[in-house]
Amino acid sequence: MSFVRIATEEAFATAELFDCYRHIIEKKSVDDPGFYSLWGHYLTHSGSRAIDIRRKLLDLGEERLRDMDSCGIARQIISLTAPGVQILDAATGASIATQANDQLAEAVARHPDRFTGLAAMAPQDPGRAASEIERAVSSLGFRGVILNSHTHGEYFDNQKFWEIFEAVEQLDVPIYLHPNTPSARLIGPMLDRGLDGAIYGFGVETGLHLLRIIVSGVFDRFPELRIIVGHLGEALPFWLFRLDFMHAAMVKAGRHAGVKPLKKRPSDYLRENVWITTSGMAWEPAIMFVRSVIGADHVMYAMDYPYQFVPAEVKVTDDLPISAAEKKAFYQSNAESVFALGMG
Ligand code: MN
Repeated sequence: MSFVRIATEEAFATAELFDCYRHIIEKKSVDDPGFYSLWGHYLTHSGSRAIDIRRKLLDLGEERLRDMDSCGIARQIISLTAPGVQILDAATGASIATQANDQLAEAVARHPDRFTGLAAMAPQDPGRAASEIERAVSSLGFRGVILNSHTHGEYFDNQKFWEIFEAVEQLDVPIYLHPNTPSARLIGPMLDRGLDGAIYGFGVETGLHLLRIIVSGVFDRFPELRIIVGHLGEALPFWLFRLDFMHAAMVKAGRHAGVKPLKKRPSDYLRENVWITTSGMAWEPAIMFVRSVIGADHVMYAMDYPYQFVPAEVKVTDDLPISAAEKKAFYQSNAESVFALGMG
């Protein structure tokens, strides 16, 4: 085999984080219907899927390595599962993030050839989040940051969060913009039809978040910023033409105070500043389309372990109609480059 498979959106949890989630569920202390829908299920359900996911999230050892071996995954890029600490209050969030980063760093130290860490942080306190990112990258050797979409309904186009962009641009590491359930303002019509989660709501929430970041001018202010999104770009690649056309039309018409001229077209930022992974989207026509409109050097593999642990799906990406060199880029080199992994 002329490449190794690197899976780039793989999740873990800590027992302390689960305790915090259980406490919120018990007290109903946060206004976030999506959180109760998602974690009310996974933390309490007695079906085998929920039980397996709870156990696999907490494992950073033998079971995870066995599962990786069973489908030929050489390395996981591991991050704290959504919504991470972003559902917590600022002080608890920061403390649980630090503890989670330390636990993940210990696992990476035990298996440096199999695991790479992304830093958890609590955007509720942007200054402290920036410091934790600095510590996680400089001291723990983490290669990026996980951002689980909205934080109590707020998005990163809000300039109060921009010192976090400053920190990652300075440290030259990417942010993985991972789904969260839609914010309280967004989720209403999804809930009663069960469309709030991975089936659709995650993509709506996360694609919207990335679009807010783009149209707010974040990439003009931070031109070196790299953002990674999963699920084949949360549907945005399909919208490139219309995004460019309508954004230009709205700027020209001066119709919205929140729509300002940008240095480039929305699609340019999606091609230049954004990397896209295939998490949960083992579907050849969609992968080939995204490669064709975004560029093969910005599309890479992810499994979404343990939520989408389906070993047979690896065959779908193994069988993509692309050259051996392109397959190596897809599975290995693009990830090595964007996370600066420094391996063969
Ligand atoms: Mn995921």
